[in-house]
Amino acid sequence: MKIKDRELGFRLIIEASPVALILTNNEGKIIYLNNFAEKMFDYQEKELEGKGVDSLLNDIYTVKPPEFWKKYFTQPTSIRLGEDNSFMAETKTGQKFPAEVQMNPIKTEESIYVLITITNVSDRLKANEQLRLVVESALNAMILTDSSGKILVINKQTELLFGYGRNELIGEKIEILVPQRMKQHHPHHRQKFHDQPKARPMGAGRDLFGVKKDGTEIPVEIGLNPVEKDGEMLVLASVIDITERKKNEEAIRLYARQIEEKNKELEEFTNVASHDLREPLNSIIGFTELLKERNSDQLDEDGNKMLDFIGKSSSRMSDLIIGLLDYARLGNSKELATTDLNKLLLTVLLDLDSSIKASDAEIKAGEMPVLNVFSMEFRLLFQNLISNSLKYRKPDAAPQISISANKVQYGWEFKVSDNGIGIPEDQKEKVFNLFHRLHKRNEFEGTGIGLAHCRKIAELHGGRIWVESEVGKGSTFYFFIPSGLR
Ligand code: ADP
Repeated sequence: MKIKDRELGFRLIIEASPVALILTNNEGKIIYLNNFAEKMFDYQEKELEGKGVDSLLNDIYTVKPPEFWKKYFTQPTSIRLGEDNSFMAETKTGQKFPAEVQMNPIKTEESIYVLITITNVSDRLKANEQLRLVVESALNAMILTDSSGKILVINKQTELLFGYGRNELIGEKIEILVPQRMKQHHPHHRQKFHDQPKARPMGAGRDLFGVKKDGTEIPVEIGLNPVEKDGEMLVLASVIDITERKKNEEAIRLYARQIEEKNKELEEFTNVASHDLREPLNSIIGFTELLKERNSDQLDEDGNKMLDFIGKSSSRMSDLIIGLLDYARLGNSKELATTDLNKLLLTVLLDLDSSIKASDAEIKAGEMPVLNVFSMEFRLLFQNLISNSLKYRKPDAAPQISISANKVQYGWEFKVSDNGIGIPEDQKEKVFNLFHRLHKRNEFEGTGIGLAHCRKIAELHGGRIWVESEVGKGSTFYFFIPSGLR
């Protein structure tokens, strides 16, 4: 390419360049500006030729004194103005805009020139301002750092959380907020994030702590987000103080451990108590029977009645103790199994066959689902409810019992309803309490344990049990079992 052609080529490139370029002579007078610069400042090249560069960039005098500029254009060096976003340039019509200005000397054999590149940074500042507003309005502490870990922006929440003022943190390394014992490894973790920047929680599996200005440590949770700003990859960290959560978790853990210990104690107590109670009781039962066998004829009618009474009471007490023991053990060996509840219900009905026949009961059973349940316990649940419906029947009407299951939101709702004597409104909750009975023994036999069992079994499945009833009309027991038990 000829020199002439080359010059023309360069000129075309400069003219078409999407960057504002101005060339000054060694007096700081404009000798050339490209198309982009003309547009940026709204001037024609001719209008500016021979004018000082300060006519476009008046702010040069606020960044550096006039004496500096007097010497600068004869001995220029590479300088950059407006890095702190405070430099304003002005168009012909007097419109000001924030600019970043780069000045570079160009030396030729004849003279020395300065090439000035001007970038309008309004959009960048707008984006920065938006980011600042987002950070400021966040409810968490937010900290923006650069790739070297230097803190660039923080919000009010950060000041509140760490007890530092904004000016004390900006410009510092993020490690100022990291406890001493973790400081050493922190730059390494930081580097790893920069190598693979993607939004993620910090320190997976590790307990994280921050350190306040007064030296106290706080447990924290930190989310990291890469943010691209002015071509640089920054990290926006959002920090949550989890002191309260940790405290609550610890309290729950402690509480759970206490409950577990108490349960164990209770179980042991029930085992020992029932064993110790049953031993003398068995002796009473045994000796009463022996006494009756051997000495019945030596006692009068009253004496024999009393002996009968002792025998019955002791057997009843034995039943109560066994019931109590069963209650305490419920769910101990629990094992969930996929169970066809149609089959399970059928075995319950077969077990109760003689009572059903004796009371002339009519039983309607709907389609049951196949569910993952504690089958032994589930069977007891059905058995207790159906046998109660048979037992608490009206004297003048044969029991009509219907059993059904309905799919509802989050699980299944079962229903056992009867046409029996019903339960008074104020007793609907209490009947599920241990040993709570509404009738004397001579009216209806029982221990008052059955429904307590039922409640425990429903709860064992994460469900619940309740009753709707009208005295004289009948009762409907409902229980809900959530689906998806594993
Ligand atoms: P038990 O039947 O051994 O007394 P439960 O715990 O099974 O003990 O029942 C507690 C009380 O609830 C019973 O004493 C009875 O008064 C009442 N009850 C239970 N089921 C029914 C029912 N289907 N109809 C009317 N009352 C009932």
